[in-house]
Amino acid sequence: MPPIVEDSVYKTLLESTKAIPWKIDWASKQFTYIGPQIESLLGWRTDSWRTVDDWVQRMHADDRMRVFEFCVQQSLMGADHEADYRALTANGDSVWIRDVVHVIRHADGSPEALIGFMFDISERKQTEAQLLVLQQQLEAMSYQDGLTGVANRRMLDQVLEREWLSARQRQHPLSLIMIDIDYFKQFNDHYGHLKGDEVLRAVAQLLSQAGLRGRDFLARFGGEEFALVLPESDLAAAQTVAERCRQQIFKAQIPHATSEISQLLTLSMGVGCIVPRQQDSLLAFVDQVDRLMYQAKRAGRSQIICQTQA
Ligand code: GH3
Ligand code: MG
Ligand code: MG
Repeated sequence: MPPIVEDSVYKTLLESTKAIPWKIDWASKQFTYIGPQIESLLGWRTDSWRTVDDWVQRMHADDRMRVFEFCVQQSLMGADHEADYRALTANGDSVWIRDVVHVIRHADGSPEALIGFMFDISERKQTEAQLLVLQQQLEAMSYQDGLTGVANRRMLDQVLEREWLSARQRQHPLSLIMIDIDYFKQFNDHYGHLKGDEVLRAVAQLLSQAGLRGRDFLARFGGEEFALVLPESDLAAAQTVAERCRQQIFKAQIPHATSEISQLLTLSMGVGCIVPRQQDSLLAFVDQVDRLMYQAKRAGRSQIICQTQA
């Protein structure tokens, strides 16, 4: 016969592991045991864990209902289970815990007691949170223009698509402004590419401060071109925004010594508006507004050309 392990051995084993053992009697909802390690982890005295209510109350309010209901439901079914939650510490902080629960059942299957281990998983949760932030940053980066920090072409395409569908469905106007810096090649040639980069950043910043509304959306279209999407804006409203963009750049008084039309940096803009019908195409609309912008170039630059009202 194998030697019988003394209770004291079990006790030593249980109380020297990092996992914290516990037992709750189902009928009385009382803790009949909890490992003394609980005190160093959460700060509550070992003998202060009396009933299941102590366990529930020492759980973060946002986790409480979910975890409690889940554990009761699983226990009633006699199913072993585990739950992650934030346990509150005596000093007001919280620690992420994974509770792994085994249900001891009566002959009829009803729960007699719950027995389990609490594991401190705060480090793992912290790593998960860091990974999530990194992932979100990466995601944001892939929709952001690296130089100016505003949305990139990829994001613009998505926003335009979404707003186009919304405008078509609700029969609301959708406006678009295409913006191009005048004589920017000369600017780079004269001041250098780095200064050019700096000015692109400044222009993006200034345009984003042109009194845009909630859903208005600025993106770098490419090179020295920007696009402004203005949902639920008619042509007159869009024209006002374009005018404000011009004002913003003018107020900044960015010198451009080699521009053929001014001492200052200027913009050419095309402004279009559409209430999309079923047969209209987004691509054709963008192309149309782009043409208006080129019309502004031909008309001498530093101009705003608006689509003629249909
Ligand atoms: P126009 O008035 O007809 O618009 O003339 P432009 O010189 O502005 O237009 P063009 O298309 O001939 O040249 C665009 C210039 O924009 C050339 C390119 O070097 C510059 N550019 C594009 N992207 C960047 C960038 O990221 N940084 C810098 N510094 N310059 C850029
Ligand atoms: Mg251009
Ligand atoms: Mg240009």
